[in-house]
Amino acid sequence: MTDLERNIENLAPHLAKVGKTGILNHIAGQAVPAVSGAWFDTISPVDDSQVARVARSDGADVDAAAHAARDAFPGWRDTPATQRRAILNAIADGIEARAEEIALCECWDTGQALRFMSKAALRGAANFRFFADRAPSARDGQSLPSPSLTNITTRVPLGPVGIITPWNTPFMLSTWKIAPALAAGCTVVHKPAEFSPWTARILMEIAENAGLPAGVWNLVNGMGEEAGKALTEHPAIRAIAFVGESATGSAIMAQAAPTLKRVHFELGGKNPVIVFDDADQDAALDATIFMIYSLNGERCTSSSRLLIQDTIADDFEAKLAARAKAIKVGHPLDPKTEVGPLIHPVHLAKVVASFDTARTEGATIAAGGTRVGEVGQYVAPTLFTNATNDMKIAQDEIFGPVLTSIRFTTEDEALSIANDTPYGLTGYVWTSDVTRAMRFTDGLEAGMIWVNSANVRHLPTPFGGMKASGIGRDGGDWSFEFYMDQKHIGIATADPKIPKLGI
Ligand code: NAD
Repeated sequence: MTDLERNIENLAPHLAKVGKTGILNHIAGQAVPAVSGAWFDTISPVDDSQVARVARSDGADVDAAAHAARDAFPGWRDTPATQRRAILNAIADGIEARAEEIALCECWDTGQALRFMSKAALRGAANFRFFADRAPSARDGQSLPSPSLTNITTRVPLGPVGIITPWNTPFMLSTWKIAPALAAGCTVVHKPAEFSPWTARILMEIAENAGLPAGVWNLVNGMGEEAGKALTEHPAIRAIAFVGESATGSAIMAQAAPTLKRVHFELGGKNPVIVFDDADQDAALDATIFMIYSLNGERCTSSSRLLIQDTIADDFEAKLAARAKAIKVGHPLDPKTEVGPLIHPVHLAKVVASFDTARTEGATIAAGGTRVGEVGQYVAPTLFTNATNDMKIAQDEIFGPVLTSIRFTTEDEALSIANDTPYGLTGYVWTSDVTRAMRFTDGLEAGMIWVNSANVRHLPTPFGGMKASGIGRDGGDWSFEFYMDQKHIGIATADPKIPKLGI
């Protein structure tokens, strides 16, 4: 039996189970279908087959979930932080115990390759442990004495919050948002992406089994414009943490405005990797390839624009094209697969359209530029060369295994091209000149920058983007800043010298 056959066999019982039960909502501790009885299908990008039917929620379901979260809030807020920490750690244990199942289901639901997804569950567990450990200090504040007052600050959880997640690495991203909200003492209504709802349901089951009280975390499935919109408009929800496209972020900001919600946005990117001719070119090549072709290129932090110094461009692009052509495209459950199928036919059409755009704009397709096979959402890893930064292929987020290479001559030119985009999520700089690295990173408009490295996530550091790539930061204490409110309390320690009126 091959590894692929074994993985398909291991997936089968999970697929049979979800096929029978469907993917239900979870409200006030109960697994429930949509109030209306409506369903939609989630399909696998491997072969377009149905994975399961999914509860299609509307305002009535969101209303029930928001009220459950509101009712559960005082109890969860006042649960001792050490107890919250214990429950979050138990959720992490539960994730680790079901890591293989989560990886297999995520691959089948999203098309992500198992070689990357096998670690996604463990990263999800690490997110829970990281914020669990910080729960006991979340309310800590400062003492800021003044001549007549002891001034102290403290933080309190905001209340029920809405969390809306996208379809790329949905399991890991859900844990990234939900764990700090719960650790802070907030209650949650989660709306996962309609293209990839399966592992959010598994995560919910794990949380229930870990002893999370009913109503603290509620799950509502459905379409963005229905369930998602209703969540952003609900008066009981105090804040929305959203990960997704920049245009959706704009819509959510408008939807949430009448109820004055706090918003936290992790949005799109068109991230540059800048390679100078004094860089370690072999390492730069490996990193450039990894950061665009891993995770099917469906990665907000992907290095989708290569800015390459003209002195080394011919050689670098030739090696890049050869490696892109050698990448193994295939079944996501085959451990040898490097690029799996894209999430959905709608997204496939968008990525394939970029191939035509490249031709029309006069770029060269140096690798890929085609769909692979007739069944499933497969495309060949693609490299566009002879591109300029004003082309659509250099400005639009394609969100697939598609890299646009742009040449530059001087450092100033590289910086101006790098910043000439509406986005500002990540940047990757390759140079052996430390002074240049310091100067360049200072000018680069990006929330996260790595020098001589691919993206290596370290949970205490701030994660988020500038410009159209986001508002707010996650990680470290930044997550708590979003999910909590600051309070100042001033206590008189001397005569407060209050001016006397009306005497
Ligand atoms: P999307 O914006 O289409 O959808 C994201 C979520 O928003 C889904 O759950 C969807 O149902 C919901 N939604 C859609 N319209 C809504 C509305 N009007 N009101 C409320 N909710 C609504 O994004 P996607 O296509 O699922 O994900 C890919 C995008 O996410 C890319 O742009 C990518 O760069 C971005 N992303 C960013 C980060 C980051 O950290 N910056 C991380 C991952 C993904």
